[in-house]
Amino acid sequence: MRTITMANGEAVEVECLSCALVNGLIEPEGGIVVETEHFHAHQDVAYPIPGLIILASKRHLKSLDELTEAERLDYITVLSKIRKAQREVLGIESVYYFYNEDTTHHFHTWMVPRYGWMYEFGRSVESVRPVLLHARNEMNDDANVKNVRQAIAALTEELKR
Ligand SMILES: [Zn+2]
Repeated sequence: MRTITMANGEAVEVECLSCALVNGLIEPEGGIVVETEHFHAHQDVAYPIPGLIILASKRHLKSLDELTEAERLDYITVLSKIRKAQREVLGIESVYYFYNEDTTHHFHTWMVPRYGWMYEFGRSVESVRPVLLHARNEMNDDANVKNVRQAIAALTEELKR
């Protein structure tokens, strides 16, 4: 078991954060953006960037090659739907996708939208960490958090259609 500190400062003990989220042990702030048979998506509220989505498998697995055929199909389908919704309701033109296998959480993909302000940190993969830290440390004000919540609501609504 490990202790994880949530965005709201609350500490919870979980074996796997992704399992805790997909099984409803932890309610993601802002709620579930979309849920399918095999996947679960929510905003990563640790970083207040509108449309920053984490798409996690419901099953506890580490690697892409462990996905069943049904899960693979579900994965790429829901990933594409979320991407389309980001474009249509949030106007997001580019997204960076990350997923790493050497994590204590289980299989999940980060969808990190690119906004104009991010380019002052450069382009490509090396800009991502400074962008995320800037968001977490400098953008946690009420107005921006409100923007993030509105983006969650807009994506959730769009993905119901
Ligand atoms: Zn898990």
